[in-house]
Parts: sequence; structure tokens; C-alpha cells
Amino acid sequence: MARKPVIAGNWKMFKTVEETVRFFDEFKPLVAGADHCEVLLCTPFPVLTAAVETVRGTGIAIGAQNLYWEKQGAFTGEVSAPMIKAAGCSHVLVGHSERRQYFGETDATVLKRTLAALEEGLTPVVCIGETLDERESGATEAVLATQFTDGVGSLTPDQFSRIIIAYEPVWAIGTGRTATPEIAEEAHRFIRQKVAEKFGAGLAGGMRILYGGSVKPDNVNSLMSCENIDGGLVGGASLKPEDFAKIVHFADQPA
Ligand code: PEP
Repeated sequence: MARKPVIAGNWKMFKTVEETVRFFDEFKPLVAGADHCEVLLCTPFPVLTAAVETVRGTGIAIGAQNLYWEKQGAFTGEVSAPMIKAAGCSHVLVGHSERRQYFGETDATVLKRTLAALEEGLTPVVCIGETLDERESGATEAVLATQFTDGVGSLTPDQFSRIIIAYEPVWAIGTGRTATPEIAEEAHRFIRQKVAEKFGAGLAGGMRILYGGSVKPDNVNSLMSCENIDGGLVGGASLKPEDFAKIVHFADQPA
């Protein structure tokens, strides 16, 4: 089944409103007419509205990087799915490894946030992936299986059909140490197999699984050539318009 690629950027805690507008002024012409893939930028909360305004009419989607599962209330510092939706976003990252590492995110809270996003009609990009210790001790598949089963594996098939999964090996995030296409493909194939076991071959065949971890213009083509890799979640290289545009045009980059 043909799966439309998704090239998503995660700006993490970078860029003011002014920097956001400057980024898109440079980026938009570089990706005009690129309809071979969906292009998504997940920005910090304070610049979401500016980002949404500046991409209007371009087809570029804007997402948040986190959300809280309650709709409103006395939860100081939190941001809800209806707020993100009202800001004009279509997507939201859930369970990024930095949220798991520094802010106590667990598979149970990943599930709650995913459900809250879906209820609001947002597309959650749900991140899973193993640490270096887990990989080196041979636990990668067990970790991925648990993150899947205890997290999004308990969605209904309809809910599941509306999410995107991002496989992000923690040891490759922000380290410059990209997984080889073989290592990434092996993990993606395993995740798709888990999806098939739980939800059937049809849903598994349509599921987009993005790779994240030091994706750059010079490695994106070989990653995107893998059968089970349907896009990228790009941190550092999404901050520079030229680099991110090259990643969007992945097929034109050196293989
Ligand atoms: C990320 O932030 O999800 C990420 C993969 O970062 P980087 O591309 O910088 O490794």
C-alpha cells in the first residue's frame, strides 16, 4: 500500500517569533510545490500562531511538541489539545524521548496524551525508541514491544489509523550518530509487524512510521530508500531552512 511520506521537523526549545517568521520566509519558496510528501514543523508553543499564520495557503502543517490530556483546569504551565487545535495546528508530538527522559513521560501518559489529541482531531506523532544501554544489552525489540503494547497498542483500530509513529533510537538523537539504514529498517519492520499482529495487515500496511535521530541532507536519501521508513522526524537539521528543504527533497540528495 502506498504511504505518503511525512517529513517532520522538531524545533525543540529553539526560535522566537521573529526567528520563526524569518525561517519560513526562507523555507517556503524552497519547498513550494513539493507535494510528494507532507511537510510538518513542530514548534514551541509561543510561536505556534505565528507559524500557522505564515504557512497559511502553503500546505505546510504546524504541530506542537507536547500536550496535556485534560481539556482545561488548574494545571499551571500545561497546554491542552483544544488550545493547540484552536491555534491552528493539525499535529502534536507525543512521548518524545526528551519528554520521557527529563519530564517523567511514561507509556501510560503517552497513551493519555494520544487519546486527548485524537479526541480533538489532531494527529499525534507518537515517539518510541530504545536507549543505548537497551540496544547494547540486546533489549531493543523488547523495549519497542513494551512501548507499543503499553502505549498506543491499546487504541481502537479507528484511533490507531489516525496516528503516526516515530521510531527514534535515543542514542541517535542530537548525537550526530545516525542509525544505519539497515538498523533503522530492522526496527521499523519490527514495529510494523507488531502493528500487524495487533491490528491486522491492512492497518499495518497503511501506517506511517518515521525515523528520527540525526537525519541530515546527506543521509536522508538512504534512510528514505528503506521499505518500511515512511519519513523523518528531524531535530537539529530542521532549524536551518536550507537543510530542512533538502531533507524535504530527499530523493534529490546523495544516496
Ligand atoms: C528529534 O528531536 O526528534 C531528533 C531526532 O533530533 P536530531 O535530528 O537533532 O537528532
